[in-house]
Amino acid sequence: MTRTNVRLNGRGVAEGTAIGRAVVAVREARQVRYRLATGKVDRERQRLRSARAVTRSQLEEISSRVARTVGQAQAAIFAAQLLMLDDPMLTGRVDELIRSERINADWALELAIDELHSVFAREGDAWLRERVGDLADVGGRLASNLRPGRDPLVSLVQELDGPLVVVADEVSPSIAAQLDWSKVRGLVCDVGSPTHHTVILARSLGIPAVVGLGSVTQMILPGQTIAVDGATGEVVIEPDQEALERWTQRAQLADAAMHKLDELRAVPAATADGLRVRLDANLEMAEEVSRVLDAGAEGIGLYRSEFLLDRAASAGGLSEDAQFETYRRLLERMAPRSVTIRTFDAGEERWERRARAQGHRERFGLRGVRAALQHDDRFRVQVRALLRAAPYGRLRILLPFVTSAAEFRQVRDLIAHISKDVPSVGAVPVGAMIEVPAAALTADRLAREADFLSVGTNDLIQYTLAIDRTDERLSGHYEPREPAVLRLLRMVATAGRRSGRDFSVCGEMAADPLLVALMVGLGFRAFSMTPAAIPVVKRSLAAIDSRQAEVIARRAVTADCAEDVHRYLMPLADAMHAVVARDGTLAK
Ligand code: PEP
Ligand code: MG
Repeated sequence: MTRTNVRLNGRGVAEGTAIGRAVVAVREARQVRYRLATGKVDRERQRLRSARAVTRSQLEEISSRVARTVGQAQAAIFAAQLLMLDDPMLTGRVDELIRSERINADWALELAIDELHSVFAREGDAWLRERVGDLADVGGRLASNLRPGRDPLVSLVQELDGPLVVVADEVSPSIAAQLDWSKVRGLVCDVGSPTHHTVILARSLGIPAVVGLGSVTQMILPGQTIAVDGATGEVVIEPDQEALERWTQRAQLADAAMHKLDELRAVPAATADGLRVRLDANLEMAEEVSRVLDAGAEGIGLYRSEFLLDRAASAGGLSEDAQFETYRRLLERMAPRSVTIRTFDAGEERWERRARAQGHRERFGLRGVRAALQHDDRFRVQVRALLRAAPYGRLRILLPFVTSAAEFRQVRDLIAHISKDVPSVGAVPVGAMIEVPAAALTADRLAREADFLSVGTNDLIQYTLAIDRTDERLSGHYEPREPAVLRLLRMVATAGRRSGRDFSVCGEMAADPLLVALMVGLGFRAFSMTPAAIPVVKRSLAAIDSRQAEVIARRAVTADCAEDVHRYLMPLADAMHAVVARDGTLAK
């Protein structure tokens, strides 16, 4: 009998509550397990038959090719694999498990292979032991033929009926970009961090997420009902009636609180003493632009275009025309508001297949403008598409991972060169992201070259503090309040103000009301954030006095540690809470 109400606690990284059926995905092992709904057993058996047929013809082809080119003896290996494929203990057993256990073919294959492994080990026969490699080979081939060309989690979510909760060790951003999120209500992961791109995407889609649960993929069974609270980090497996009611109540309360913020959507953001602050939105999926408009954003401060690439990778590439259409629609929908499109910022880990083929997968490898300057084909195509779309709205181009004024100039020249072939383009502002300490330290020089500056605190913090932002083991040290980070921010604000250029912050720090107040104190007057944070930040800004924020910020940059900064911020936090208590709205 399954236990009900098993509680787990992790780190809530995307607010909201959700209830759904678990889909369990273990990326390392490429396992995907789920229970079949009645009526889907035959389809699953058919999937197995098809995969078996494809595997057979592949093995026959390899076997005859090896016989021709290498020799009969070597070809015998594949003949043996063919026999293994037809063994009742393998495909026969998989078929039986699908029927008797009502589980998906991939899971059944996993179990059948485990059983065969123990038989081979038990027999203690040297010949059989040698067959273990063949078994892995046939099993792997069969598994990949069950889901040709697609990530298992992506195709699984496609096949299942929602509402689902994705339970995974880790969901890479490229997989996240391809998921059908309309069926997914929640996300629960073994690892993860608030600035991981998958979590950023979940937040902007309003999907509650809890990460850092350790081995949740080992505890949750496919098909179990899961309740997720992305604010408290609570996850309940098989909630009972009472727990379900509690969850419904929480959802209603959160809805009501958000509702109260509705009236703020059309009001410009300002502090209590009347200092005007600009609030833009970040966007990952172009088709989600209505969220940006609904939130009352003044524009799009950061469109992370690399999500387009992730999706296109599974569809065989991204053409200039397809990009042009996406950018054009986005600009038209937002007009007359500005749209800042960041050129592709895909680290090599995002280009897994390519990186693996080339044998280097370092996380901090070729990326941002360096990648643009090296394999400029992708960049050139993107810039052409952007420039073609420019007349349809107010476009700004943002370059990621700039490290110096000279580097920026080089890319800017490249853009100017590309624009010669694009008819009728007016001047499009080109800005620099400040997300490595080198850029922050030379912000005064960069401000002379760039039309605007945008601080990416997610990366700036990781590079300043030497803390991988996606490594949950270090998440306790990932600290925006560190005085070193604040000093860099102040340098950018000073350089921006002196140059008269626009400057803003678009990292996740900009979605935290208290940190926004601190950055107002440091001199920032524009922020871009996940759409849902806009009304919350607006409400909090209205509660604080910018002159008090300035005094606190001046103290903060001379503090010894983040804890001290946190203490200095308390008067601002109190002012925000007082407004929340008065109005009954959420400030955080
Ligand atoms: C950042 O680094 O803060 C940023 C906004 O870019 P991303 O999160 O996409 O790396
Ligand atoms: Mg970044």
